[in-house]
Amino acid sequence: MKNIALLVMIGFLMLSGIPVTMALSQSDIHLSARVIHQGELSLIRIHVENGETPLVTWMGEKVHLVSNPEKTDWIGFLGVDLTAGPGRNDVVVKMSDSGPEQRLNMEIREKDYGVRNLTLPQNMVDLDAETLARVRKETAVTNALWEAEPSSPLWDGSFMKPVPGEVIGPFGRRSVINGHPRSPHTGVDLRGKKGTPIKAINDGRVVLTGDHFFSGLFVVIDHGGGIQSMYFHMDKIQVQQGEMVEKGAIIGSVGSTGRATGPHLHWGVRVNGARIDPSQLVDKSSQLEE
Ligand SMILES: [Zn+2]
Repeated sequence: MKNIALLVMIGFLMLSGIPVTMALSQSDIHLSARVIHQGELSLIRIHVENGETPLVTWMGEKVHLVSNPEKTDWIGFLGVDLTAGPGRNDVVVKMSDSGPEQRLNMEIREKDYGVRNLTLPQNMVDLDAETLARVRKETAVTNALWEAEPSSPLWDGSFMKPVPGEVIGPFGRRSVINGHPRSPHTGVDLRGKKGTPIKAINDGRVVLTGDHFFSGLFVVIDHGGGIQSMYFHMDKIQVQQGEMVEKGAIIGSVGSTGRATGPHLHWGVRVNGARIDPSQLVDKSSQLEE
């Protein structure tokens, strides 16, 4: 009898257009992509009916989820670093600490972002001992940010571009300078005249400002939940370290400080430490407004 009742119910749900999976399980998990390339993101959405707090783990790290006020719909981002190894990786979802885990398999694929060969005067490439020591110190300061325990999410809804200009330096491209391979481009370069206002891409807290050898005047915003954005080669910084900023707030202006060939904005994003293409964050999060 019970089975007949269930079949009748499924038939009714199918006719009514309500997804059957929701009726049969307590949760509904949706991933925007099951195949992710290096430097890309997948958006995870989880629907729960009974007030549970889903726990998501991706590549050994906790994924910080944001929910609606009713706590029925949860979202988060799974990032794959630019240099992550290809292969299968599972997203692990639990509805409670002691509950059973559900594994959703994901596949990471390599992506060819291209190579650029540059010839520069050798004295522009070789750093003297003093500069090298400075660069090492500055790298340690920024690395500490990526390694810090993530704070609770401050971001909300979709992410925006910091300046309207198009991409003039693509993400992930490798440079070979005077025949020697260099590290790949870990952000995008956006077109912008000197003085163009730079806007915070979402709500967050300014965790670091400074003037580094390569980045020039820069700002790092922590959006919480393991998402950070950074803005390099600025002409002016108009925020203070520790300040809370809202999405769209002006944090400074475009310049060519540090090692830059001309005015532009280098914009980078990290998600749980993974260096991803910032435009992925704008694209994937735009689905949140629907
Ligand atoms: Zn750049």
